[in-house]
Amino acid sequence: MDQNETLNSGVIADVKRRIEQMFYTGNREIGDQEPEQQSDISQQAWLYFVAFLALENLILRLEGKPTIRLNDGVTSLSHGLITECGRLVFRGAENWVYIYVHEHFCLVELPWDSAWTWYLAVLGVDFCYYWLHRACHEVHILWAQHQVHHSSEEYNLPVGLRHSILQNWCGFIFYVPLALVIPPAQFLTHQHINFLYQIWVHTRVVSTLGPLEWILNTPRHHRVHHGCNLYCLDKNYGGFLIIWDRIFGTFAEEHKDEAIIYGLVHNQPSFNPVFLQLFYNVNVIKKWKAMNGWQDKLAAIWKGPSWLPGKPRLGATEDKLDIRSREKYDMKLPVWINIYLCLHFVALVIVYQELALKYSDMTPLAVLGFVTYILVSQTVIGMMFDNRPHTCIFELTRCVIFVFYVHKSDLTLQGRSSITLLQPFFILSSCFWILQTFRVLHTEVKKIKKE
Ligand SMILES: [Zn+2]
Ligand SMILES: [Zn+2]
Repeated sequence: MDQNETLNSGVIADVKRRIEQMFYTGNREIGDQEPEQQSDISQQAWLYFVAFLALENLILRLEGKPTIRLNDGVTSLSHGLITECGRLVFRGAENWVYIYVHEHFCLVELPWDSAWTWYLAVLGVDFCYYWLHRACHEVHILWAQHQVHHSSEEYNLPVGLRHSILQNWCGFIFYVPLALVIPPAQFLTHQHINFLYQIWVHTRVVSTLGPLEWILNTPRHHRVHHGCNLYCLDKNYGGFLIIWDRIFGTFAEEHKDEAIIYGLVHNQPSFNPVFLQLFYNVNVIKKWKAMNGWQDKLAAIWKGPSWLPGKPRLGATEDKLDIRSREKYDMKLPVWINIYLCLHFVALVIVYQELALKYSDMTPLAVLGFVTYILVSQTVIGMMFDNRPHTCIFELTRCVIFVFYVHKSDLTLQGRSSITLLQPFFILSSCFWILQTFRVLHTEVKKIKKE
């Protein structure tokens, strides 16, 4: 009995600790962890994310509201996977400047175990995040990266995982002033927890949090941030706290009498996550090319996305669209394709898990090869959700490459990894797509003959 109680209290304490980590109320011991352990917080949070996702959809179903759309949900989760892949490739290199500044220019050594260091780090990280986020909306080249986060026409927990793989590289500079006082371990921990806190505010099932709405960024405030109705644009940038928006004049209350339309003002009809990560950069280049004179060319990069020559930095209000209703981009596919794509997305997550386990023992080139394969796979899955023509040929190629890679690589020499267990599934998929490709080619030949 005693043993059971000890076990239970151990499990409860572990669950409590993990939920605290996910909801930003964890204890200060975290600040004393190694950076590798800190990044594990994100890994551990995945399990709880899935549980909360199931709960969110159950509540939506019970309330009779639309639940997650498969194509949009998988696209959001794919962005999460892309961000995690970026973490493995870059290995936190973007934080080098922070560490360098702290080592050479630190003004005061704060004790890691003091509550004041903790409070200062919470406020400091969130204050810097506010300005980073605001800049991401007000500077065209930064918006080209951040728009990924706004690319869904839905508003649910997976949308909280839509992040740009490049944003950290553009945005790290906003945190550098903190390096003068906050130690890197504290900074990285709070940046992680701040990131995790922001996931849960992406939900429609929580209407209001009462008096907490004054201080915290909540689902209600963040819904406004994701709207493309005119009153929602460039509002509510806060990460953990909403007080920064109240102080700096960017706060907007949710309108009860106007339904929020989520997504980009000019929605990009695609479920291809890699395309969504990159496409907007082309818009910036096009705008830059279209401008006359170097002043306007530079302004096309650093002024707001709506800026035009002769207009205010963030564009003129009368030129902006006020979207009150629109049809969501969707593509109806047969059930079997949806099941197929779901299974292959799960297979991709397994491939990523294998990579995350072994990447520290792999060469950078091998890691890059794995990540490229994951990105290509996500592109093909996205194209299939978009019902693009001839995608079956790309899918066949992708499945065959996987089968050959596993056969040739030394993964099999390291014992039966979960990747080798996926091989039969990819062989079956390859056979299916060979038949499908022949069918498509046969139809094409018939068409040509008729003409
Ligand atoms: Zn934003
Ligand atoms: Zn958001």
